[in-house]
Amino acid sequence: MQKGAWHNASPVGLILVLSAPSGAGKTSILSKILKLHPEISFSVSATTRPPRENERDGFDYHFINDRQFDEYLLNDSFIEWAEVHGNRYGTLKNEISHVVESGGTIILDTDTVGAFNIKKFFADAVLIFIAPPSPDILVDRLKKRNTETEQRVEQRLAAAPVEISRMAGYDYIVINDDLDAAVAQVETIIKAENLKSERIIPSLTKWRKYLDR
Ligand code: 5GP
Repeated sequence: MQKGAWHNASPVGLILVLSAPSGAGKTSILSKILKLHPEISFSVSATTRPPRENERDGFDYHFINDRQFDEYLLNDSFIEWAEVHGNRYGTLKNEISHVVESGGTIILDTDTVGAFNIKKFFADAVLIFIAPPSPDILVDRLKKRNTETEQRVEQRLAAAPVEISRMAGYDYIVINDDLDAAVAQVETIIKAENLKSERIIPSLTKWRKYLDR
């Protein structure tokens, strides 16, 4: 919406994109935010990666095979997709369109390639980068993860410098030193974004009527 426009003001959805190198604690932050804010939606991506033990199909990801992923590509079902650590991941158009149209808030979890592509598609999308406090802590956290094989840990460690180097292109950076503090910072960002004039104006019907008199 054009700044300052009162007429035809319709709800504007808020799209938040969270990215982080593996081991930064993004998944823990995300699940806390979603638990604390049931009004916020999560865009469930499709992936060809096999599920981890604790992951549920349709909640964490839509776990699909290569053939199904190719079909989605043919049907133009993705807003963006990328190959990350040897698997394909994509944001489905139908996950976010209804939230955007109704003026709700939705969180996407993508790598840095996906985040910048989302911004090209939705210029108002808010990009948040979750950074670990230091390189040593990143390496330590990743090695302690027992959801990955050694080869996968190495793959993820090798990708970290590229992801870290792209954080300057993000709107916000949250350093995950302490989980609760990081969650509170993400909540602050969401609150501030929801106070932007383009999101407030559609709800100011009394002032609209006052101006229209
Ligand atoms: P993981 O396998 O650890 O769940 O995710 C690996 C990487 O893929 C993470 O950086 C995550 O943000 C990214 N990812 C998850 N879903 C998507 C998606 O839909 N699009 C893109 N571009 N990246 C994704």
